[in-house]
Amino acid sequence: MSKGRGDVNDTGQPTTERTGRSLGGKQRSLEAERVSLLQSLQRRGISERVIRAMSKVKREDYIPHNWRDYAYHDEPLPIGNGQTISAPHMVAIMCDLLSVEPSSNVLEVGTGSGYHAAVLAQLVGEGTVYTIERFGQLAQEARERVPSNVVVNTGDGSLGFAEKAPFDRILVTCSAPDVPPPLLAQLTAGGRMVIPLGREIQELYLVCKNNEITKEAHGGVAFVLLVGEYGFGEARDSGRSNRFRF
Ligand code: SAM
Repeated sequence: MSKGRGDVNDTGQPTTERTGRSLGGKQRSLEAERVSLLQSLQRRGISERVIRAMSKVKREDYIPHNWRDYAYHDEPLPIGNGQTISAPHMVAIMCDLLSVEPSSNVLEVGTGSGYHAAVLAQLVGEGTVYTIERFGQLAQEARERVPSNVVVNTGDGSLGFAEKAPFDRILVTCSAPDVPPPLLAQLTAGGRMVIPLGREIQELYLVCKNNEITKEAHGGVAFVLLVGEYGFGEARDSGRSNRFRF
């Protein structure tokens, strides 16, 4: 899985292999890499609406400074506390599946860096994105970066956020054993939830709540684990092995 990539040491710093500024010795500006990444998302079939939203959020503002040169590499990057910012193509795929409408009331479980919430904030326009992170430090850092229609909370997101429910859309950015019942209960009728399920073997699901609940699989993924009451136990979430997880 890590073929062709560098590595990180225990403090999350890039090793010397990764500190070379650019691919193949060529210097390419972040801006050129940003454009190239957005074009690659377009070729993958990501909707114009999601690409436009992503084009308005600078990924370099959501990652530690020492990883800035890699902001537009399409891969997860370390953000501290053993967690990662998701790869851009995964952010795009999840946003497309979620099909966020302007003015939607959205809940995100797993704020991490705040990047995905900031992209959702572009898509909801006048709506609000509530996001929950279990690590207080990550939540605080995200709070300082996100736009004003994103509200960051600290806590166990597997319980949802009853205070602001119901939600038109729920995005879970860490992998759960099954759909947490409180999240399903807090989804509006007609609402959509995107959630990875599984531990070693994970799959991305679109859950729709209509007269009945439907669950549609959308391919294999590798996310960090949801840790909480309706998640996995603490011991299973080992920081360093998360490096290549979304
Ligand atoms: N959306 C993030 C971004 O844009 O940077 C990436 C999120 S990262 C892949 C998953 C996050 O879920 C981690 O920051 C992790 O701490 C968080 N997490 C895991 N279990 C959680 C829980 N029960 N409640 C809230 N956050 C949780």
